[in-house]
Amino acid sequence: SRVEVIPVIGSTNQHWLAAIPRLDKGDVCLAECQTAGRGRRGRAWISPFGGQLILSLYWRLEQGMAAAMGLSLVVGIAVVEALQARGFEGVQLKWPNDLYLGGRKLAGILVEMSGTAGGPCHLVIGVGLNLLLPKEEQTRIDQPWAELAELGEITDRNALVVALVGYLQRYLARFEREGIAAFREQWNRLDYFNGKPVRVLMGEQEVHGRARGIDDQGALLLELDGGEIKRFLGGEVSLRPQ
Ligand code: ATP
Repeated sequence: SRVEVIPVIGSTNQHWLAAIPRLDKGDVCLAECQTAGRGRRGRAWISPFGGQLILSLYWRLEQGMAAAMGLSLVVGIAVVEALQARGFEGVQLKWPNDLYLGGRKLAGILVEMSGTAGGPCHLVIGVGLNLLLPKEEQTRIDQPWAELAELGEITDRNALVVALVGYLQRYLARFEREGIAAFREQWNRLDYFNGKPVRVLMGEQEVHGRARGIDDQGALLLELDGGEIKRFLGGEVSLRPQ
């Protein structure tokens, strides 16, 4: 696949979304610094020069948008496994799209889609992984965060990128063949919140309970006080510790 490296960019996802007409499945855009990195719902993603691994990967699902349900969960597994393959152990997942280290945010995943009814679904999959954040940038992050350097020296960033892209391409291909259900157990094993008391936020609404991993559709399962299980599918849903 093609790899485009741009030292300083607004957002790799934005750049790759605009490039979709000329992209092939698996093409990757890499940057050293984002000046307008984004999270979900327009939130800012801090990606200072040299402190992060920033990439966007293009993928296409011929079956359309509906086939993408659960895809960001698979992206999370792929990133964790790539890190394991490079010797970085102990990274966990937070539903639906974050990587956690010791309960703090190590990386964010932002999947953006476009397409028309009946046509293929175009996906730009963004990953921002903290490697070693410059001191002056650290205070700009308004929630507990982590960096990969806590787990050991990062000796070869290129090898890390190669592992990451390889795992993403293989796992996305398997997701297309087998769907999210095939990844359920693996995801649940990596789930930081599994069994923990949590709050689920949906706009103004807040539901309390105990996280019970995901189901075969990739929905978050929440056990309420009375034992009833409630399901949450993606969208405007956020998970928080209680
Ligand atoms: P949700 O559970 O709704 O996804 P979130 O806080 O994880 O909530 P995202 O949109 O995934 O939200 O990510 C954006 C948030 O991540 C920012 O609001 C900020 O709190 C945090 N953040 C920004 N930059 C970094 C970074 N480099 N490392 C860790 N966390 C960051």
